[in-house]
Amino acid sequence: MKLSEEKVYRFSELANKVKASMIRELLKYANLPGAISFGGGTPDPETFPREELAQLAAEVIQKEYKYTLQYATTEGDPELVKQIIHLIKRVYDVDGVEPENVLITAGSQQALELIGKVLLDKDDYVIVGDPEYLGALGAFRMRDPRFLVVRFEDDGPDINQVESYLKKLDASGQIHRLKFLYLVSNFQNPSGITTSLEKRKALVELAEKYDFLIVEDDPYGALRFEGEMLPPLLKFGGTQRVILLNTFSKILCPGLRIGVVVADKTIIRKLVLVKQSTDLCGPALNMRLTARYLERYDILQQIKPAIELYRRKRDVMLDALKEYFGDVPGAKWTKPEGGLFVWVTLPEGYDTMEMFKFAEERKVFYIPGQAFRPFDEPSSSMRMSFCLPPFEKIVEGVRKLKEAFLAYKAY
Ligand code: PMP
Repeated sequence: MKLSEEKVYRFSELANKVKASMIRELLKYANLPGAISFGGGTPDPETFPREELAQLAAEVIQKEYKYTLQYATTEGDPELVKQIIHLIKRVYDVDGVEPENVLITAGSQQALELIGKVLLDKDDYVIVGDPEYLGALGAFRMRDPRFLVVRFEDDGPDINQVESYLKKLDASGQIHRLKFLYLVSNFQNPSGITTSLEKRKALVELAEKYDFLIVEDDPYGALRFEGEMLPPLLKFGGTQRVILLNTFSKILCPGLRIGVVVADKTIIRKLVLVKQSTDLCGPALNMRLTARYLERYDILQQIKPAIELYRRKRDVMLDALKEYFGDVPGAKWTKPEGGLFVWVTLPEGYDTMEMFKFAEERKVFYIPGQAFRPFDEPSSSMRMSFCLPPFEKIVEGVRKLKEAFLAYKAY
């Protein structure tokens, strides 16, 4: 065999099925000098409390090495669980969360994968949005479910469409195969849309009526710039109905990989068993470090400068969009009250995947909406993340994007 030849291994069906992430492929050149990337949803590293974490890391390694350098329990560090319960009460005003309702995971991405393993068999139904967080679609796809895709409106998923799916499943005797509805309730990735209070209540009512679970994923809720925070679906449905996912990736730093599942204790127990064969336990050092950080600092205060930074960046992006795309008939974009993303939609008939090469030539990057569609259909929308580029680059990037759009239009 020549060195350049790729050996054919006897991979599993699952391994043969997983595709390389389109995003990684698209954003290959996004970090080259001179490039402006609205692609990744990665937080601004300047917001990471590195001094505080460095000091605490030294302390917990030296003083608590018997815990931090040892295996932990699968459920996660009890000290961190205690802090998280306290934080959940503060942020969501939800009572009654006990340690047995909590599992610490390696980011909420691991939680999504574990939920897929615990709840989904081949051909089970899952309700997801159009568009939807592609990491969730990827995690669920591993289990070969059938996606029931619900349009996203300005205030969240189209409830009539959800109901019509439910009625059909019920009429055909298949409702028991609907395992859950997945929803990023605040400042959705990718659209920036927040599901309204009415829709939150309506979804929980439907879940009660048709007896299915809701997986509420909320990495961005604490990054609210303005307006009032809405109660989570968990508040209406309780842990019997709702599995809440959260993460420290956007409010502390993603490198620690600390995610949280809040669920009924029966579900947590299953997740724990499955997690055991995945990684035995989470990283004790990172868990204890996060616990001591939460103990010593008020994370909701600490995060305020980052929120202010993202709010200003959002404003700069919205202003630039108005300046450069305001005169494009039919172009529109969301105006998120928090989070990291604006969802820009070009006039009907345009395809942001086709436009990508024109943008790439001008060294400006975004993620085409197609990446977030459960069935991979073309899209006239794109996700524009405003968190990473400096202010002036945001304006320059949007200006270049307009040039790319004009070149694509003329093509
Ligand atoms: N859910 C959503 C909606 C996300 O946007 C992300 C991160 N981009 C995740 C889950 C996973 O985040 P992490 O694994 O870093 O907690």
